[in-house]
Amino acid sequence: MNRVFQSIAMQQIPVHQHDPKQVDGKIYVRLTEGHYQRIRRAISGSLMLMFFLTAWINLDGQQIVLFDFFSRRLHLFGMLLSPKDIYLLAGFMIIGAILLFALASAYSRVWCGFACPQSIWTWVFIRIETITEGRRNNRIKDDKKGWNPGKLTRRIAKHSLWALFATLTSMTFIGYFVPIREIASDIISLNLSLEMFSWILIFALLTYVNAGLVREKVCAHMCPYARFQSVMFDPDTRTISYDVDRGEPRHKNRSSNEGGDCIDCKLCVHVCPTGIDIRQGLQSDCITCGACIDACDDVMTRMRRPTGLIRFVSENQEQGKASPVLRPRIWAYIASIVLISGYLIWAFANKEALIMDVIRDRQTLYVTNGAGEVCNEYKLIIENVSVTATDFALTLDNSLLRLEGKSGLDLQPGQRNELNYRVCAPTTADTALIPRKINFTASSSDGQWQQMSSFIMPQQRR
Ligand code: SF4
Ligand code: SF4
Repeated sequence: MNRVFQSIAMQQIPVHQHDPKQVDGKIYVRLTEGHYQRIRRAISGSLMLMFFLTAWINLDGQQIVLFDFFSRRLHLFGMLLSPKDIYLLAGFMIIGAILLFALASAYSRVWCGFACPQSIWTWVFIRIETITEGRRNNRIKDDKKGWNPGKLTRRIAKHSLWALFATLTSMTFIGYFVPIREIASDIISLNLSLEMFSWILIFALLTYVNAGLVREKVCAHMCPYARFQSVMFDPDTRTISYDVDRGEPRHKNRSSNEGGDCIDCKLCVHVCPTGIDIRQGLQSDCITCGACIDACDDVMTRMRRPTGLIRFVSENQEQGKASPVLRPRIWAYIASIVLISGYLIWAFANKEALIMDVIRDRQTLYVTNGAGEVCNEYKLIIENVSVTATDFALTLDNSLLRLEGKSGLDLQPGQRNELNYRVCAPTTADTALIPRKINFTASSSDGQWQQMSSFIMPQQRR
């Protein structure tokens, strides 16, 4: 059995410490090109574009994604969700978690390498670093030299671009909680509140530190997913592996046909964003970005040797056994996702357009008025959680009862009203016909909503 898989079988994913000499105490990432980098850039580019653009899209004058904390509402693609709809959001999160399990079972940490925001932003910051300070070797040389005007200019350019990108990220992120057009117009008119300025600064700093300075340490030490990912692996999970049998013994003589295929060029290490040497075996710090595969495939192509010295491979594939990606476990994940999605579609289609609550005044059991009626007092909380302005008519379900208060309500989308009402019954009425439980009914052209409450009369009248 390949040494890599011996280690998987024996200890799941071994943790190898970085060798400081191997990375000079600091990770200088070299950008590479290739099949997996093209896929990674297509995925991360699309997600990043989605992040930056979605906040600017309006539907009927309303931002299509807005988590409005102040009014405790979530505007989501033309729908209005209230705290009562939190289970729908929980459904999305469960689908996300199952998707993550399915991806991890099929292709180990591809989520981390190809789609996680921490990785996406880190790659952008590395790209900026490469543009401003040059390629890996130049950066290493620059760091060894003392300060000079050229180095100072390069550093200022890098940190300025990092800061600019971090600020744009922060503004966009906050734009999902406060309407982004308001933020933009406040910035343009130099009218930004101190509170908003502080939030933008805090999130910009977090982005700058995470993607620019801390980078792989977030994945290695802060991300909980890295710690439990190995429990989702099985012998059919594709992991990034170095073919020890083919690559060893390494040799630096490129023209020699003796020894293994690895020419110990260390390109696979130089392109690794977490600074590990995959030739030491699968490691918990590997985020499955595929950069080492692309770098090594390029070397093998130039050496006129078959590619795939580093590749995605499962333990069963390595042993020559059948190893389908779509196996029962993955089908179970897919079935769960389909079921939960089906439920969510149904729940969204049948989502209430109105939230109504009736609270009976508990201070006073009842009052009598000058017209010879017994009255109870109520507070009605009514909220239009649809995306259209709606007229509601408020009625009671018993003709002997009289509703005192505003019966016609015109509510804008998201509008919430708290109104006081009195319900009165004539003392002369046949008390057997006065129910103890009464229903408040709000009707509109879209339907009817009812809320029950109690109605109390003097005992002797019952
Ligand atoms: S890139 Fe390939 S050939 Fe070069 S050191 Fe890594 S495994 Fe060996
Ligand atoms: S070992 Fe390879 S796949 Fe893993 S993080 Fe490094 S470059 Fe990416």
